[in-house]
Amino acid sequence: MRRDLFDEEHDLFRETVREFLAREVVPHHAQWEKDGIVPREVWKKAGELGMFGFSVPEEYGGSGISDFRYNTVIVEEIIRVGATGLGFGLHNDIMAPYLVDLTNDEQKQRWLPGFASGELITAIGMTEPGAGSDLQGIRTTAVREGDHYVVNGQKTFITNGINSDLVVVVVKTDPSAGARGTSLLMLERGMEGFTRGRNLEKVGMHAQDTAELFFQNVRVPVANLLGDEEGQGFFQLMNNLPQERLSIAVAAVAAAETVLEETIAYCRDRTAFGRNLGKFQNTRFLLAELATEVEIARHYVDKCVRALNAGELTAVDAAKAKWWTTELQNRVVDRCVQLHGGYGYMLEYPVAKAWLDSRVQTIYGGTTEIMKEIIGRSFGF
Ligand SMILES: Cc1cc2nc3c(=O)[nH]c(=O)nc-3n(C[C@H](O)[C@H](O)[C@H](O)COP(=O)(O)OP(=O)(O)OC[C@H]3O[C@@H](n4cnc5c(N)ncnc54)[C@H](O)[C@@H]3O)c2cc1C
Repeated sequence: MRRDLFDEEHDLFRETVREFLAREVVPHHAQWEKDGIVPREVWKKAGELGMFGFSVPEEYGGSGISDFRYNTVIVEEIIRVGATGLGFGLHNDIMAPYLVDLTNDEQKQRWLPGFASGELITAIGMTEPGAGSDLQGIRTTAVREGDHYVVNGQKTFITNGINSDLVVVVVKTDPSAGARGTSLLMLERGMEGFTRGRNLEKVGMHAQDTAELFFQNVRVPVANLLGDEEGQGFFQLMNNLPQERLSIAVAAVAAAETVLEETIAYCRDRTAFGRNLGKFQNTRFLLAELATEVEIARHYVDKCVRALNAGELTAVDAAKAKWWTTELQNRVVDRCVQLHGGYGYMLEYPVAKAWLDSRVQTIYGGTTEIMKEIIGRSFGF
């Protein structure tokens, strides 16, 4: 079915992104996978092309456009070339709402120009060694002392953890107040007592830096609090998580489509028992099933993008999109590995890398089980 999500300007933008990736990313990505990180220069080059901060007002160096279809284009193009090292999705899709919607004028002036230019790389620190799904169980504290908070604790599994300059850190400002005791503080590279741990060795996404962060008596100016008052952190997170989950769903569908296309081409060429793989009914039925599910997923996700643009995407809509598409992605990729036979296990074949890169999708941004909890709770049992 014809996809009607995009207008001509999105198509033109897609060409620009595609050309940028072909020139600046694809030739280097294999090396970045070995390095475990992408160089900061590629962020700056992407910033020069206007790939960051669409929703950042023009006076702060952005485009002033709130249209998630541009974000969608970037995620899709990155996924199509397997450039999973680029943490652009986290910067654009997840961090922008915190920086644009929750900041005051003074904070906007400090952070937005660098955010839009790619010179200030961002990250978000929610997860701790002892608490991931159960965000209320975090133990990092921020104790007010005059004009500062003194922050102690640690975070783990933080995307852009090594490269980031500006990290939204979820802290307890009042450990006795439950959800109302949680706040979001901006920690900046170079603050005394803010250190990074290991660049963690992951199953896949090897070019993406994922790290531990440590805070030992870090003195953070009160001016770095997000929002007007303490204790809003949990609600701020809940507001922004649907967009994060939609971004993951967009990536999931794009990855499933890409792997499916590659596998169909493979099944056309590869022969066994004197005919190509596509001549076996099992192959055709399996590909037919997967293609059907992926197309249906695509239309639901496109509708979610429209709903987000209209300010109507609910937490339940996004949870449905997230768990369904990421579970589908894993199933598609796994079945496509099978159709490749032994070659599917060789890293020189994109399907093998896709298999490694996709597994985490049902885990981060809220696990499948937590998504089902969100949906299940909406029935009011
Ligand atoms: C590559 C990668 C990048 C990441 N990037 C970031 C980042 O940038 N910032 C950040 O803050 N975090 C990040 N994370 C962390 C990620 O969001 C968490 O790993 C995830 O939310 C799950 O938390 P957990 O690992 O503590 O698992 P746990 O919460 O311990 O869950 C373990 C298992 O128990 C299940 N479970 C937990 N609670 C329930 C329940 N109520 N009902 C049923 N089942 C339940 C879970 O679904 C899961 O299967 C990243 C993780 C990875 C792997």
